[in-house]
Amino acid sequence: MAGEVPIGGRLKTEPRRHPYGPGDVRLLARVSAPDLALQLTGGPLHGTYKLEQFHCHWGRSNTEGSEHTVDGKPYAGELHLVHWNCEKYPSFSEAVQHPDGLAVLGVLLQVGEESHEEIEKIVQLIPHIQFKGQKIPTGTIDPAKFLPADVSYWTYPGSLTTPPCSESVIWIIFKQPVTVSERQVEAFRTLRTYSPDEICPCEGEGQVLYNYRPPLPLGNRIMRECGSM
Ligand SMILES: [Zn+2]
Repeated sequence: MAGEVPIGGRLKTEPRRHPYGPGDVRLLARVSAPDLALQLTGGPLHGTYKLEQFHCHWGRSNTEGSEHTVDGKPYAGELHLVHWNCEKYPSFSEAVQHPDGLAVLGVLLQVGEESHEEIEKIVQLIPHIQFKGQKIPTGTIDPAKFLPADVSYWTYPGSLTTPPCSESVIWIIFKQPVTVSERQVEAFRTLRTYSPDEICPCEGEGQVLYNYRPPLPLGNRIMRECGSM
């Protein structure tokens, strides 16, 4: 990733200043990746960033779910690979407190005929972790396989979209979406918002039907792009 150039804003997003309530935190099914020696360098980044975790955002239907929109168009979902600056800071929790602390790769998800092979490894585990707080080992997952073939991207400095919502993220959003199947995105929607020892607090079955934060204008943030599709 190198050679990005300044452009105007086509990608709309901006961090929300006020934090989400605690109810929103639970809506993320998160895969921790502390043991993976995956590192990110170059492009808009100074130093080395290490993968901490990845997670997905999705919507009630396939016409919503991504946290970034492209020319106003939302995608069915968005995968976030969260990295922290391990060259400059001693820990993830320290890195979160600095503007150059985190780098998040965003992969837009569209629904199509084909299932995504690597995402399927997670989808297969979902029946075993239906409730909040449940954990399961993932086996071998190669996050590099989540990325699209075309690695053109947009980048801008922003914030986390979930607590602590700190201004600590260098966002890198790939222009080319990857395809997941209807069955795969439906599997994410079966996750529950509550733990096994809680009574379902919601209507229906307390499912996480959506967990994305609607995009806001880019504001005065400077967005740059690298490559074109
Ligand atoms: Zn996210």
